[in-house]
Amino acid sequence: SKEFDPGIIKKLDEVVVNRIAAGEIIQRPANALKELLENSLDAKSSQIQVQVKAGGLKLLQIQDNGTGIRKDDLGIVCERFTTSKLCKFEDLTQIATFGFRGEALASISHVAHMQIQTKTKQEPCGYKASYADGKLQGAPKPCAGNQGTIITIEDLFYSMPQRRQALKSPAEEFQKLSDVVSKYAVHNPHVGFTLKKQGEAQPALKTPVNSSRKENIRIIYGSAISKELLELTYKDDTFKFQMDALLTQVNYSAKKGVMLLFINQRLVESPALKSSLDGIYSTYLPRGQHPFIYMSLQLPPQNLDVNVHPTKHEVHFLYQDEIIERIKEQVEAQLLGSNATRTFYKQL
Ligand code: ADP
Ligand code: MG
Repeated sequence: SKEFDPGIIKKLDEVVVNRIAAGEIIQRPANALKELLENSLDAKSSQIQVQVKAGGLKLLQIQDNGTGIRKDDLGIVCERFTTSKLCKFEDLTQIATFGFRGEALASISHVAHMQIQTKTKQEPCGYKASYADGKLQGAPKPCAGNQGTIITIEDLFYSMPQRRQALKSPAEEFQKLSDVVSKYAVHNPHVGFTLKKQGEAQPALKTPVNSSRKENIRIIYGSAISKELLELTYKDDTFKFQMDALLTQVNYSAKKGVMLLFINQRLVESPALKSSLDGIYSTYLPRGQHPFIYMSLQLPPQNLDVNVHPTKHEVHFLYQDEIIERIKEQVEAQLLGSNATRTFYKQL
């Protein structure tokens, strides 16, 4: 009878396929912002301004003063796997820039209305272009403007009503956006960052150009943290890595810990490293209290698995256990050195 007949397999419509894939990469406004900030940094910007409305769900706009995008590239910039940063597979292991798969702009254009306004140094005027589902809509229009790029994203997830509904709280999304800008601002103190809610006179966050990491931590996270920071740099010849860190001494602690981890300039998460650092502090800090940690690691690119899915901010690297052990030794020595009088609190 009919009910035992096999189903007929059909290929999904291409637009639907692309939307599903894009929805996996861009899960919320903060994912989109991270990709766009990385693009602006790749483009050597010294000023990056972010403007948002409704936690980035209605509007997410990033303006930078970087290299701009060549007019001739505006036709393909939003297609999948188009990038100026990678030509062959081997490049993946050598890549020094942040983005590397040419998927960010394409993905965003599948789940939002997107507009790019851009001007390079070479071209006499700028151009404005709109995109939908990875494709340029009409010819780019000449416009006035300074060198750099403005990317405007409106109505994120308009094409995915369930996703849009799941992101109920613009305030929560704004907090996540602010978190991403804060972390990149600390890591890139030479760049001036601004985060503004549309319609508000004062920016929610602002760091000056050519600042320092410590100063940006003070501006963003407060002086209670910045005045307790220990600076730590370490180069390891065996495992060929370098660590630069700013971490709080053991007389500082807070209910909510903060950890900023960058590996090869990319904001990532490493649960293994985090729990190891937490472990050190837990012997010094009162129960349930946590430190502030900024850490930047430079690893040989060939030791880092960069060819992961873009949403996987969790990284894994070669000699992970050994490297974490070395970091632990350094941090432990530093904390002890900074506060020898408190060592007796350490429970052995
Ligand atoms: P990827 O960063 O992996 O190359 P993206 O989709 O994020 O892929 O960007 C595609 C390309 O668009 C980049 O390679 C770059 O050439 C260009 N681009 C994107 N954003 C900017 C920007 N803010 N300034 C200059 N060029 C940009
Ligand atoms: Mg990118």
